[in-house]
Amino acid sequence: MMEALIEFRNVSKYYTMGDTVVKAADDISFKIYKGEFVAIVGQSGSGKSTCMNIIGCLDVPTSGVYLLNGRNVGEMNKNELSEIRNAMVGFIFQQYNLLPRFNILENVEIPLMYAGVSKSERRRRAREALENVGLGSKTKNLPNQLSGGQQQRVSIARALVGKPSLILADEPTGALDSKTGVEVMALFQNLHKAGHTIVLITHNNEIAADAQRIIRLEDGRVVYDGPASGDTASHNVFSSGRRKADESAGIL
Ligand code: ADP
Ligand code: MG
Repeated sequence: MMEALIEFRNVSKYYTMGDTVVKAADDISFKIYKGEFVAIVGQSGSGKSTCMNIIGCLDVPTSGVYLLNGRNVGEMNKNELSEIRNAMVGFIFQQYNLLPRFNILENVEIPLMYAGVSKSERRRRAREALENVGLGSKTKNLPNQLSGGQQQRVSIARALVGKPSLILADEPTGALDSKTGVEVMALFQNLHKAGHTIVLITHNNEIAADAQRIIRLEDGRVVYDGPASGDTASHNVFSSGRRKADESAGIL
């Protein structure tokens, strides 16, 4: 049987604030397989960042088990966590976190420097990653010479360049206008088609409806896990989102 890339087994994360205990993640179980495109959705405070930090090996559960590619992350020390994170996870954040004084080719090379890849190989792979996100002609530009959507595409290239097993994106369209957000989501669709495993964290139902599967959180618990089309909480916006896409494609 195929092994899950990500498995949460009764994962909980508790924070103690004086006398009260906040259950930021409360007995969460799910499996995500290689090649899936999953959105973890919920309102502010529902536990999305808590799950993202655990999935991305930035934090460990209070109880329960997190397996990444069959390895128990909860038992790892800080060094092991950063090793597995660098090897397996490509992060994309709302803020692009590009280095302003370096051109975009150099920005995309940075993860490969940490990985000890030779200079010529770094150049070649960074150029290829930028071509894959449609920025092959902009390699010499500084980040501030690009639009917000283009800068986000650079950060996606930077996440991809190390060939991670998992792309983990936290509100990747949060800083973009809706048209540019749609373009960035189209890029995620392409990455999914090319076989990448994507976990997208968002509070935005319309964005989430672009994923294949939705895991919906409320108060640290999973309240829905299934196909995007079956998630009643986002179903209405799903149809309006489709409608908008069809309109802009000139279908309606
Ligand atoms: P989301 O990302 O969906 O907005 P979070 O995972 O950030 O939700 O937070 C879930 C809950 O856990 C919230 O009630 C939040 O206040 C609480 N929480 C998150 N991080 C901490 C922390 N470091 N200390 C105390 N409470 C926290
Ligand atoms: Mg959050």
